[in-house]
Amino acid sequence: MNYCQARHCDKYLYFPGEKRARFYRPYQCGEQALPGDRVCALCKAAKPSNVQLSRGFNHGFIGDLIPPNSHAYGGEWYLSMVAKRGEPAKEVLEEATEHIEEDFETTAGPEIAALFRAGMSSTKVEMPTRLPKAEPARSQKGEPKARQTKKKTQAAATGPSYIQESCAAAEAKIAEMTRSITPRIVEALSEPLDVCEVEYIDVETLKFDGDKYYKDLATNYLYKRLANKGMGELVGKFNEEALAIMDVD
Ligand SMILES: [Zn+2]
Repeated sequence: MNYCQARHCDKYLYFPGEKRARFYRPYQCGEQALPGDRVCALCKAAKPSNVQLSRGFNHGFIGDLIPPNSHAYGGEWYLSMVAKRGEPAKEVLEEATEHIEEDFETTAGPEIAALFRAGMSSTKVEMPTRLPKAEPARSQKGEPKARQTKKKTQAAATGPSYIQESCAAAEAKIAEMTRSITPRIVEALSEPLDVCEVEYIDVETLKFDGDKYYKDLATNYLYKRLANKGMGELVGKFNEEALAIMDVD
């Protein structure tokens, strides 16, 4: 079975420093790819999105470059941020590569990776934040700016490239990598979310009565933990004293 090769992100992590700059943890979509295609039906149909955690955000393909506007671990943007702010803590890096670990040569390109390594091994070298060739196409200059943020303009101009992209050279490598990657299915089966709709919660796993759950640390709400470790539906509120799951409205 061929797995969808789209790269998505499921979590953000922080660079060191006071300003808690974020980058995102990548994973492979892992849904079944459409016959003769690199992507699954969900990724193919995903609406372009500016939200890095959305399926509609273009983080490229596994085994390919991470686009410059992606803030995924390992991409050009990520490496330029490391050059500025320093490398994230070891535990953070472990978390960042929990699902997949790709070479920086693959995800940022050989030139950037070499620059990065040179910078890391000697004194700090300021990385170019963006290479000329990687500059994404902008939308027309004359576009009214009033209601559009910079990010939105970019996403609209670059769009999802799953369909246009053709990188046959990486195929062999990807096929090899795919075998060692555990497919991971994400529950975002509906439309990509708008920024304002995304809610981040801290959860811990909980085993109760033989079932596995995710427990919202702030509210004690329990969500089903799916076999693929995804987050399922809300089942109730965990009452720690009664050791019972209570209904919520
Ligand atoms: Zn997919």
